[in-house]
Amino acid sequence: MYLKNIELQGFKSFANKINFEFNEGITGIVGPNGSGKSNIADAVRWVLGAQSAKQLRGSKMEDVIFAGTENRRPVGYSQVDITIDNHDKRMAIDYLEVTISRRVYRSGESEFYINKTPCRLKDIHELFLDTGVGKEGYSIIGQGQIDKILSTKPEDRRDLFDEAAGIVKFKRRKSEAYKKLEQEKQNLLRINDIIKELE
Ligand code: ATP
Repeated sequence: MYLKNIELQGFKSFANKINFEFNEGITGIVGPNGSGKSNIADAVRWVLGAQSAKQLRGSKMEDVIFAGTENRRPVGYSQVDITIDNHDKRMAIDYLEVTISRRVYRSGESEFYINKTPCRLKDIHELFLDTGVGKEGYSIIGQGQIDKILSTKPEDRRDLFDEAAGIVKFKRRKSEAYKKLEQEKQNLLRINDIIKELE
């Protein structure tokens, strides 16, 4: 599983549609200060579902949309598509290539797609669970994040190890099952009350 392609349009400093192709192995992105290197990493975080503007080095979500320059008018929406090679089937989906897309308008409305089919943000989170990729994954380590990981609370650090060990999916299913069980217990209590009333 590896990142094959990123396409940006109207995202931060990238007003025009731009495509970055990657191969397996290591790729370096170099450029002068302020040329948009970190914006590319922000684009990956964003398409994977980042919800906090701060996480994307902005103050509001609208900051991900190209805001215009002296010579160029602002644009109305921002779109990022990332394509991931899934030949090793690490993602639990029946495709060898998966494209995740997100589009946001100035109104704040966000749309998500998996292989061009509209989906919920939850579907994207579930697709990446236990792969190390994803909103909470450790695949994107930002500047200063190593220090944060080392100084964080042990319980929070444990989440990182759980993700790496591939058990987050099971923990989530367990907690959903407990919730359902609790709901059923409440239903049973209500049924018993009704039975007593009828007797
Ligand atoms: P450094 O090497 O200093 O870390 P960098 O190459 O990582 O720099 P970025 O931080 O990715 O650069 O890009 C910053 C640039 O992106 C700034 O020039 C900023 O004005 C521009 N930028 C950020 N958001 C927007 C936006 N919404 N519209 C237009 N330009 C934007």
